[in-house]
Amino acid sequence: MVIAGRRERGYGPHMTNSDALETRLAAEITARRDDLVALTQALIRIPTLNPPGRNYREICDFLSDRLSGAGFSVELVRAEGARADSDRHPRWNMVARRDGARPGDCVHFNSHHDVVEVGHGWTVDPFGGVVRDGRVYGRGACDMKGGLAASIVAAEAFIAACPDFTGAIEISATADEESGGYGGVAYLAEKGWFAPERVQHVIIPEPLNKDRICLGHRGVWWAEIETKGRIAHGSMPFLGDCAVRHMGAVLAEMEEVLFPLLAGRHTDMPVVPEGARQSTLNINAIHGGEPEQEAGYTGLPAPCVPDRCRITIDRRVLIEEDPEEVKAEIAAMMERVKARRPGFDYEIRELFEVRPTMTDREAPVVQTVARAIEKVLARAPQYVVSPGTYDQKHIDRIGRLKNCIAYGPGILDLAHQPDEWVGIDDMTDSARVMALTLAELLAV
Ligand SMILES: [Zn+2]
Repeated sequence: MVIAGRRERGYGPHMTNSDALETRLAAEITARRDDLVALTQALIRIPTLNPPGRNYREICDFLSDRLSGAGFSVELVRAEGARADSDRHPRWNMVARRDGARPGDCVHFNSHHDVVEVGHGWTVDPFGGVVRDGRVYGRGACDMKGGLAASIVAAEAFIAACPDFTGAIEISATADEESGGYGGVAYLAEKGWFAPERVQHVIIPEPLNKDRICLGHRGVWWAEIETKGRIAHGSMPFLGDCAVRHMGAVLAEMEEVLFPLLAGRHTDMPVVPEGARQSTLNINAIHGGEPEQEAGYTGLPAPCVPDRCRITIDRRVLIEEDPEEVKAEIAAMMERVKARRPGFDYEIRELFEVRPTMTDREAPVVQTVARAIEKVLARAPQYVVSPGTYDQKHIDRIGRLKNCIAYGPGILDLAHQPDEWVGIDDMTDSARVMALTLAELLAV
């Protein structure tokens, strides 16, 4: 890893200077509290719903205006040809960069600008940006427009307090995290935006809570398993071969052998919630026999022996597991079932795969954010790992950059829920942590 422009870090002789800077940064953030709220509201009021990917250009233009005004040079990047990109719903991304007075490390804040569908159960306007009882409400408030706003205000506060800084600050707002990130971070990483020679530290302000550092995530493997049979009249099932009964045998094998095995496989990754500190497998869907009747059809279904049955499995993978062995384990299970059932045949189709990733606790960005949390919140940070994936996968695998964490305001459980909100104090505290992180990494 390139860590350029080094100087002595830490406490000791720099104590007085860094204390003065810390006080100055706290004052700069306090002075920007109303602006932080207004910025969060403005972002919520641009409904960047995904799918299908609405208003991506609008939010990038809005952010471009804001950050150009703060002295950043801004590029808008359309992920042309990426999954889901179309002229109707183009996948726009925004990357803003501000270089300091001298060369040095680049600290990059990456937020996704897309939000998930609204759903039912709201008591406030999901795109109104309502402020009530110290909270900003709306779809995307915590996941993750509050985090994006906090990173922008943190950068602006740091630049005001320390205009002579070393290195560079980048802020990106990227598309499609909620649908895999292919038109967002994956595209940018493929084009070299996260190459270790141009970016050294990445912070993703996902809503992990202001005192937690998220080091990475488990891996995932989705596959479709199909059992095959032979169609026949339902009154004479002995003339056919029932694919649903074959699948029943597969499910029984999972219950008896596979699930107990997975439950006993524990990880040292600090995954939250704790129930996810083991290998897991979910059956996301099952389909067998005739398809659902078309709308408006009121007659009976026809009697047939089903010749196809499919399940989609969602296997979450630990860093201690070999992804190839995870796949081989499923294949071996299917072979065991096959050995017991004459005429049984099956197919496994791989759908999607993400490798587990976890940044080292000793990595510079982890240690720096940890010290900033201790100073701002007067408590030690908690180190966590996410049970599901987020854009760190692309930064790690395609971008080859390991010095990356998720850190940001908001309560993860509120994400994707009705009446989603982010706390204003949580945003200002996180912004202070982010500004202090910039100070430690980039202040002269
Ligand atoms: Zn998110």
